[in-house]
Amino acid sequence: MRCPFCGHIDTQVKDSRPAEDHVAIRRRRFCPACGGRFTTYERVQLRDLVVLKSNGRREDFDREKLERSIRIAMRKRPIEPERIDQMVTGIVRRLESLGESEITSRQIGQIVMEALARIDTVAYVRFASVYMNFQAVGDFDRFMAELRPQEIPDETGPS
Ligand SMILES: [Zn+2]
Repeated sequence: MRCPFCGHIDTQVKDSRPAEDHVAIRRRRFCPACGGRFTTYERVQLRDLVVLKSNGRREDFDREKLERSIRIAMRKRPIEPERIDQMVTGIVRRLESLGESEITSRQIGQIVMEALARIDTVAYVRFASVYMNFQAVGDFDRFMAELRPQEIPDETGPS
């Protein structure tokens, strides 16, 4: 693994331990060239996913990007960081188990909203308002009126 600070190729693993309820391995790495320390995560990847965006472009699915958008929605909410990691892992599993190598950004948005609705209503509304591009206040009010997360089926996906 290349050092993100100096580009040295030969970094050392100092510590490895299970993370996210044994779904991932967390490794602390050390670069002997610059003394930099960084963390990597090892996870099962069932298939390579490609995202088909609404503008017709395709890009490789990026777990980090998904996680960032969820963390933004969860900002200052009373949710354990570990819980968010588990949620992201669950979402990725669901995307992988759709059985398609190509998924639309709309499918991702739907699955994220379902997952958020089960965990935190405020985070759900935040994400949905950005994702669905509710710009007009009227639209947002209508959305709030229709907001009934408890009616979203409690589907946990394949285990
Ligand atoms: Zn380095």
